[in-house]
Amino acid sequence: MNKIQNLLLGLAVGDAFGIRYETMTRYEIPRVFDFTKYQRNPKEEWGNGAGEYTDDTQMSIAIAELLLSGKLLTKENFADYFVKTYKRDERNGYGKGLRITLPEVSDGKGLIAKLKTNSIRNGAAMRATPLGLLKNARLVIEAAMTNASVTHDTLKGKASSVCMALASHYFLHDVGPIDKLFNYCLELSLAIDPESTEYWTAIGDMKEFDPVLLFGEADKDYGVPCDGMRTAGAVLYLVTKYPDTVSVLKESVLLGGDTDSVAALATGLKAIQCGLDSFPEFLLRDLENGPCGRDYLIQLGEKLEKKLE
Ligand SMILES: [Mg+2]
Repeated sequence: MNKIQNLLLGLAVGDAFGIRYETMTRYEIPRVFDFTKYQRNPKEEWGNGAGEYTDDTQMSIAIAELLLSGKLLTKENFADYFVKTYKRDERNGYGKGLRITLPEVSDGKGLIAKLKTNSIRNGAAMRATPLGLLKNARLVIEAAMTNASVTHDTLKGKASSVCMALASHYFLHDVGPIDKLFNYCLELSLAIDPESTEYWTAIGDMKEFDPVLLFGEADKDYGVPCDGMRTAGAVLYLVTKYPDTVSVLKESVLLGGDTDSVAALATGLKAIQCGLDSFPEFLLRDLENGPCGRDYLIQLGEKLEKKLE
């Protein structure tokens, strides 16, 4: 597998494994945690089957396909690809705005016209990692800002999108050693949102696990809230603290809260750095393999690598 394939498969595995535990508190999860199989989320209305990924992976695929197309990275083109990937293969798990709007529109223009974009949640960050493929940090930052502007046109939405795209760029392009990752993301996203900068600096300096610092006072017993700044902070914490992809996947779920998004991002990023060899067999074997499943992701990663050579 190449690095892009590792990213895409890591995202899908983290997402499909993590969705079982989404919205459970970090105290509840260890009681039911089962690292031998994929399970669907017990909430009927979520409707995903075991081994199926959710919006996080689907929207990351949309961005990967946009990159592959060679089209300009405009707001409308991002939106077009979000609509297109959803329409061909409808998924649950989208946040409220997109869940209501995607079925009602037929293209990116329609989506942009209808969608409210004042959210600070993690939706722009969760799909931003394929943008790390772009050839330098300036292009990555520009594209990650545009990505956020489609759905999360806020300082926190933009900062979190840039932070996750930069982390991916760091690993995909071998920018430096793992212990400089925090500094790299911080320095380059410094001017976007002062509160995010301050928070990520504190997480980078955190010596012992501190749930009040990491999750915020209101969520200290819950886990990672569905918030762009805290999602990106938790992901950088996981990726820098744990040594291999499998421990990052496990620990990202055990943090609690928005487990599918955190596990997707953290596992995808760690997989670029460390590969997928540490995974137990079931994670790749039982990942969905329909028209946009495992084999499709492998092909997409191969095509992207060729395109970028
Ligand atoms: Mg999701």
